Amino acid sequence: AYFILILLFISRIRSTVGKSKPSTNFPPPNLLTLDFSERIRTDPLAIESASSDYGNIVHENPAAVLHPSSPQDIVSLIKFAYNNSGTFTISARGRSHSVFGQAMAPNGVIVDMMRLRSHRENNGVIVSKNPSLGYFYADVGGEQLWIDVLKATMEHGLAPVAWTDYLYLTVGGTLSNAGISGQSFRYGPQISNVYEMDVVTGKGELVTCSPHKNSELFYAVLGGLGQFGIITRARIAIEPAPKRVKWVRMLYSDFSAFTKDQERLIAINGRRQSSALDYVEGSLLMNQGPPNNWRSSFFPSSDIPRIMSLVTQHGIIYCLEVAKYYDDSTQHSVPKELEQMYKGLSFISGFKLEKDVSFMDFLDRVRNGELKLQSQGLWDVPHPWLNLFLPKSRISDFNSGVFQDIVLKRNITTGPVLIYPMNRNKWDDRTSAVIPEEEVFYTVGFLHSSGLNDWQRYDDQNKEVLKFCEKGGIKVKEYFPHNKTKEEWINHFGSKWKIFRERKSMFDPKMMLSPGQRIFN
Ligand code: FAD
Repeated sequence: AYFILILLFISRIRSTVGKSKPSTNFPPPNLLTLDFSERIRTDPLAIESASSDYGNIVHENPAAVLHPSSPQDIVSLIKFAYNNSGTFTISARGRSHSVFGQAMAPNGVIVDMMRLRSHRENNGVIVSKNPSLGYFYADVGGEQLWIDVLKATMEHGLAPVAWTDYLYLTVGGTLSNAGISGQSFRYGPQISNVYEMDVVTGKGELVTCSPHKNSELFYAVLGGLGQFGIITRARIAIEPAPKRVKWVRMLYSDFSAFTKDQERLIAINGRRQSSALDYVEGSLLMNQGPPNNWRSSFFPSSDIPRIMSLVTQHGIIYCLEVAKYYDDSTQHSVPKELEQMYKGLSFISGFKLEKDVSFMDFLDRVRNGELKLQSQGLWDVPHPWLNLFLPKSRISDFNSGVFQDIVLKRNITTGPVLIYPMNRNKWDDRTSAVIPEEEVFYTVGFLHSSGLNDWQRYDDQNKEVLKFCEKGGIKVKEYFPHNKTKEEWINHFGSKWKIFRERKSMFDPKMMLSPGQRIFN
């Protein structure tokens, strides 16, 4: 008990270190006379709840938190700030599952998007069919969690096609980044599967935008890191939902065999023919952690000893993960198609493991791990994550310089390390998202969990990885970029910087939105 008390004490001190003080001149006097002012909270509870994120590394107090009851409240707040001479910053906060304070607004106002959920009709998800073209779509509030979108669309036998691995994230939050998972090679990221949005711009205007209407705003906002407006509704692509999923993992000791197979699979399955695989991912198995982790508990306990002895023998084992959806009409053909596919792959003989799960269980596979860690008090620890996009041509250099050298030498990596390829042609270059130039590129994610006081060690490893890439001329792009100097931001956006900056002055000329990204603020 004494030890726990000390830990609590240390975490209390830590959680207040580095916090900005609430602004003394907030709120501007006339703000509290507006009709939505009762929903602007400045009490310690509201401030505290908006001052940290999943990363648990950056802690910054806003001056106030808006609990909106409608998109109109957001319009009023931004309009007020825009028209007020002593303006303040404003940040939409979705689930706050950023890892370095990206959804924070030091001394500004947080718009707590999740509060909108209880005010929406139809739980914020409306399913419709395009009358002339016949396709289905769902209009969803920007504050909705993807898990709720899944549940609501499944009631109609439909589901979105593009996903993240974890579903307890908001639609507005993932569309502000990209929204990727094993389906991206085939369906593109979530930002490639949006037909239309309602966005409150930095001038306080509520604008409906699409590829055909206000298209500049539409493409700016997708992957726009919250810089151009707050998404209050997105119209997203949905399709008939399958019933079940064949879920397979195969182990490799040879990196080039592993990546060759991954690349071949995304090339032959990248088209949307019905026989194609629906999901291709990959990850590393190392001595630092068990083969099952919070991302998914896949391997049966009876197989773990032989898997671990393989890992001990090789240092790193590469795990290819694929999934094929099916329903009543395809249940007999799918196993044969998979058998055919296995014949062309070079995994270690005897190390192909299969599961058969419901579609819902497959998509929501991370939740069980989360609940388990929560029950052990291990979910709310610091998360010094590093997520990268890498050109295919340098992935082997990355393996030898990073996985086989930095990672093994430092021996500190904890948590999943993901690696899987995607096709560039499934991304729309008009969006604000930044990816490598090559046709095929990889995402690599170091999803570290650390102790309260040693996240810096992991961050140092992340920096070493970035330095290795810089020195070796590996043109990586960070996914969820953070902590950048102006020059580094310009470099990050590359040829998109000019348009990114122009769009900022067009849609948020007073530079009020999403200051936590630290691009313009
Ligand atoms: P927040 O952290 O609240 O916000 C992120 C940014 O978006 C901020 O700048 C914020 O101001 C802005 N924003 C929020 N809502 C809106 C809105 N409505 N309109 C405009 N701007 C807005 N990402 C993937 O792509 N694939 C994954 O598989 C994946 N898995 C993850 C698993 C876990 C456990 C975690 C913690 C994160 C994961 N992520 C993944 C990352 C995640 O997509 C991003 O962190 C995303 O921003 C989280 O959404 P959020 O609702 O928490 O956004």
